[in-house]
Amino acid sequence: MSEIIVGIDLGTTNSEIAVYRAGRPQVLADDAGRLILPSVVGLDDAGGLLVGEEARNQFLLAPERTVRSIKRRMGSDDTVSLAGQSYRPQEISAIILKRLKETAERRLGQAVAKAVITVPAYFSDTQRQATREAGEIAGLEVVRIINEPTAAALVYEAGQHQGKRILVYDLGGGTFDVSIVRIEEGVVEVISSHGNNHLGGDDFDQKIVGHILDHLKIKQGVEVSGSPQAMARILRSAEAAKKHLSDHPFARIEEEYLIESGGRPVHLALELEREHYETMIAPFIEETMEAIHIALKGAGLTASQVEEILLVGGATRTPMIRRRLEQVFGLAPRGEVDADLCVAMGAAIQGAAIAGDEVSAVLVDVTPYTFGTSALGELDGEPYPYCFIPIIPKNTPIPVRKSEVFYTIRDHQREVEVRIYQGEDRDARRNIQLGEFRVDGLSNAPAGNPIVLDLALDRDGILKVSAREKKTGLEHRITIDRALSRYDQGDLERARLRIDSLFDDRDDDDREDAEGDEGDDDIQGAEGGSDGAGITADADLDGLLARAGAKLDSVGEEDRNELIDLIETTRDALAAGDRAAVATARQQLTDLLFYLET
Ligand code: AMP
Repeated sequence: MSEIIVGIDLGTTNSEIAVYRAGRPQVLADDAGRLILPSVVGLDDAGGLLVGEEARNQFLLAPERTVRSIKRRMGSDDTVSLAGQSYRPQEISAIILKRLKETAERRLGQAVAKAVITVPAYFSDTQRQATREAGEIAGLEVVRIINEPTAAALVYEAGQHQGKRILVYDLGGGTFDVSIVRIEEGVVEVISSHGNNHLGGDDFDQKIVGHILDHLKIKQGVEVSGSPQAMARILRSAEAAKKHLSDHPFARIEEEYLIESGGRPVHLALELEREHYETMIAPFIEETMEAIHIALKGAGLTASQVEEILLVGGATRTPMIRRRLEQVFGLAPRGEVDADLCVAMGAAIQGAAIAGDEVSAVLVDVTPYTFGTSALGELDGEPYPYCFIPIIPKNTPIPVRKSEVFYTIRDHQREVEVRIYQGEDRDARRNIQLGEFRVDGLSNAPAGNPIVLDLALDRDGILKVSAREKKTGLEHRITIDRALSRYDQGDLERARLRIDSLFDDRDDDDREDAEGDEGDDDIQGAEGGSDGAGITADADLDGLLARAGAKLDSVGEEDRNELIDLIETTRDALAAGDRAAVATARQQLTDLLFYLET
């Protein structure tokens, strides 16, 4: 076995340690099972050392005995004071590194002496040197310092050899960095970088805290900002609400007995809508978009020349960020590897490569498609009733659960029709419909009655869908089996078509029997779910599909893709019972085959 070189992400807010084992990087957990160590160091009231979560918890109560965000001072001559003693930034960072080293040694059951440590791309030589020294104080030989975006790129691209231009968008708790990196022959190079090391998820928390304080002042006439205990609870609640809003359209913020005012207890209870929250944080997001343009300019690139966007840092789970990036680049960002752990994993990959191991990119179970619904919206500037609204985006790690809110469009609307689609087209009708159902018995309300649609997809490809009237809790659910297996199903279909075509005309009857199964989209409990009723495959069409299947292996890539699309379109049209679409697809397939066979 080669020697162990661990990878460490020494972050401003949080730090992690990882090791490359069994062909993949693994982040190592402390004794309490935690993978993330807050980069906070403190002393308790008896003078005992606190590192991580415990130190963070005492920050608001005892700031004079707690040090946060020491990374911002690395390389400077500052000292920080902790219970009357002064420490250099390297020493505080060394305490964090030492704690991580101990964790790794306990998990691995052996001594750990060497590490790769990551730093931001903008770090100067002095700051890099200070990081190296922190490692040495902690008893680690720092075999290499690498840039954080380089580490992220390695997680997604290690072992790949084609050249690529990648944008790494890294938004952590307190810092934002955007870097343009190029990978060529497995070597990662940062070509430009820009950011703001005082911008991050903590600012989002502060916006929610401000909103809560205003609410308490206006609704209950109380001012709590003078109470550190109440403020600590509000901050924790605000962060929890922020995280909840990444996957849900509403968050409840509740704290009982927050404080006493005028001899009576004050309880906090309010609801925050994602839409409202997004207006609070929009200026921050726009600031990151401006930084992106500066980084692109620095690299001499335009947005359209970026081939991949990688999301790093916990705050990139905010859906608005993904949405804005997609608008600017027309490219879905990748964030399937845990955004908090990605940099440590990349450092571990680099460590293993230095130790002589063969390394490869990280593979994660993700959804190969986007899942969503249709709603009234605008398509190409025109009102359109079937706009596709993504809920679970392509490349999201599974299992996953996400919800979105929709609103009724008419006064006294007593029912809504919900359709679930898989695909990427902005026109829902061009995607594959997986199921549909109706929720009736809605309360008699004006237009704008919120309906929460919730999608939960598990590793077995079972998609559970529920639609709930928020006001009353009235709910309707369906389960769609094999939501992920459609692609495999398509592959199976193609293979079957190819084999069928070998038997060709001799065996038409058998083939027709086989086609009888087709169109079953496995919807349970769906009222009026499309089950392929209406049209059954006819023998001519079977023959056409078989001919198309037989051609797949003998044509060029472009024609092959076109054939596959048309075969799938035909099958989907059949399954949906859409005669007009079947006729169109049949005509297009006939034309293409005529062209390919002559
Ligand atoms: P990092 O420094 O990369 O660990 O990122 C920490 C920041 O990410 C903190 O501000 C967290 O509150 C934030 N964060 C973590 N999870 C989420 C989430 N699900 N949605 C939004 N922000 C999150």
